[in-house]
Amino acid sequence: MASKILIAEDDNNILGLLSVFLSGLGYEVSLARDGQEALEMAVKVKPDLMIVDIMMPRMNGFKLVNTLAMDRHDIPMPKVIMLTSLADKENVQRGLSVGADVYIPKPFNLEDVAARISELLGETPAK
Ligand SMILES: [Mg+2]
Repeated sequence: MASKILIAEDDNNILGLLSVFLSGLGYEVSLARDGQEALEMAVKVKPDLMIVDIMMPRMNGFKLVNTLAMDRHDIPMPKVIMLTSLADKENVQRGLSVGADVYIPKPFNLEDVAARISELLGETPAK
């Protein structure tokens, strides 16, 4: 069965790019345009992995990941990649401390994102 990836991102260009790319790799992709929507969708979809932007309306990525990590909402904690332009040391530390597994700065490379997803999901690199 295809792994499920939920993308939380308020930039439509990035959301579209990741969606097309990851669907093309065979993942089952869900999209949310703010943190609150992502939280609600995560409870329904039970994603294996989430790609999370930090600066989003209604609920930022730190709060989103922290909420999922602290209060599981009866779902298994997904792997989390933070994908953000807030890539200074302090924000990276904060992201990892709230429960992100990997921090990827924007601008990003699609192949990097795919490689990190494979690692986190325990897949073989040549997917
Ligand atoms: Mg944003």
